Amino acid sequence: MSKWQKEHPIEAAIYRRKWALDNPEKEMENDKRRYQRDRTKRAAANKKWNDSHRELLRERANAKNREIRKDVLKHYGDRCACCGETEPKFLAIDHINGRGDKNNRDKRVTASFYRWIQKNDYPKDLQILCHNCNCAKGFYGECPHQSFKIKELFNSEVVVVIAK
Ligand SMILES: [Zn+2]
Ligand SMILES: [Zn+2]
Repeated sequence: MSKWQKEHPIEAAIYRRKWALDNPEKEMENDKRRYQRDRTKRAAANKKWNDSHRELLRERANAKNREIRKDVLKHYGDRCACCGETEPKFLAIDHINGRGDKNNRDKRVTASFYRWIQKNDYPKDLQILCHNCNCAKGFYGECPHQSFKIKELFNSEVVVVIAK
């Protein structure tokens, strides 16, 4: 800003407005440049704020993630589909048909997976398993609870047959 502009702010403003009307294309370019400059400034200010509020932001993100996980677990019945465990800390989301390779298995406990489930409208091929049942299914292809159930069913049918 020149000395004259500083001493005559009103005249300078009038002159600027007139100039802008006479040079619409240059004025548009100036606008763009100002917008870019302000955007850089805004980004810098945001970064500064974020840097000095890291703890708060992390806490906020964690709270949001807990909320999402709670919602997803609720949607799938809040209990292990195999043994009925209800302690949320033991529960995880499982692909019913064992889809998802080893890498995906690690992703199952991450916040982004729960967000993905919400965004994809709670896919039908997912269920809740507790970590016990989930690991057993991973190791043996089936949780022992399931073979017990089959045995129990078999035994009760044998009893029925004998009773006849
Ligand atoms: Zn279980
Ligand atoms: Zn089980």
